[in-house]
Formats: sequence, C-alpha cells, structure tokens
Amino acid sequence: MPARQTLNDLFIHELSDIYSAEKQLTKALPKMARAASNPDLVAAFESHLTETQGQVERIDQFVEAAGLKLKRVKCMAMEGLVEEGKEVIDEIEKGAVLDAALIGAAQKVEHYEIASYGTILTFAKQLGLTQALEPLKATMAEEKGADEKLSALAQKINVEAKSAK
Ligand code: FE
Ligand code: FE
Ligand code: FE
Ligand code: ZN
Repeated sequence: MPARQTLNDLFIHELSDIYSAEKQLTKALPKMARAASNPDLVAAFESHLTETQGQVERIDQFVEAAGLKLKRVKCMAMEGLVEEGKEVIDEIEKGAVLDAALIGAAQKVEHYEIASYGTILTFAKQLGLTQALEPLKATMAEEKGADEKLSALAQKINVEAKSAK
C-alpha cells in the first residue's frame, strides 16, 4: 500500500484513482452505447467516450509536464459502478426502460467523477500545482456537461419508458 502521509501524497493517490476510473470507463462506455436504443443516448455515450479518452491524455500530459508520478491503484468505486451498469444491461430487455436505467447508471458515474475532480482540483490549488489547474477544470466542465446532457435526455426517455409495455 502506498503511504499517504502528506497532502501531496493524497493528491497523487486521488489523481491515480481517477486515472484508473477514466481508463475503466473507456472500456465501459462502448458497451453502454451498444446497449442503448435511443439514438441521442447512443450519441451521448459515444461523444463522452471521446471526451473520456481525451481526459486520460490530459492527465498523462500534465503529469509528465509537472514531473509527477502516478501510483498503480485501481478505483474500486468505478469498478462497482461499472458492474452495476453491466447488471442493468444483463437484466433489462433492450428498449426505453433499459435506456432509463442506463442514464441512471451513467449519472452515478458522472457524479462520482465530479466529486473526485472537485477534491483533486482543491488539492492542486492548495499545493500550488498550477500546471494541473486548467486541465482539471476542462475535464470537470466535460463531466458536468455530460451529466446535464443525461438529465435532459432523461426528460424524454423516462416518458417513453413509462409507456413501454
Ligand atoms: Fe471522466
Ligand atoms: Fe475511486
Ligand atoms: Fe448502488
Ligand atoms: Zn465522465
């Protein structure tokens, strides 16, 4: 277990954790896109996949630029959230009800990411890691945007789900 004795250690740990989370998501989002029926929801998952790949690169870039070194940690929370996403895909027939469930699962993911980046951004500010601030803010904006897009899609999809079957 890597030691976490300083705020800097904690920053590296949290950053390594979200890095693992983003990598897990690059594998999960294509499955969610394939499981979705509503074309706008499929497009939302696909475009967030592209953003997520960029978020991984963004972390790689500022870690290298700032001379930081990530730890090998696995985000257990994202593993669980992805597992719950797989459960809905396995258990619910393709259609509007599955789409509504996928939105719920995806919003839990976005909220986890928003909370994580909030913490990481606060630590980066406290530590004076100025190189990390812009990339972290850019990613945070994408996570919030993805969450809002999903909320907007739920407005229509939940209506369809209600009248399904
Ligand atoms: Fe992300
Ligand atoms: Fe985590
Ligand atoms: Fe749960
Ligand atoms: Zn996200």
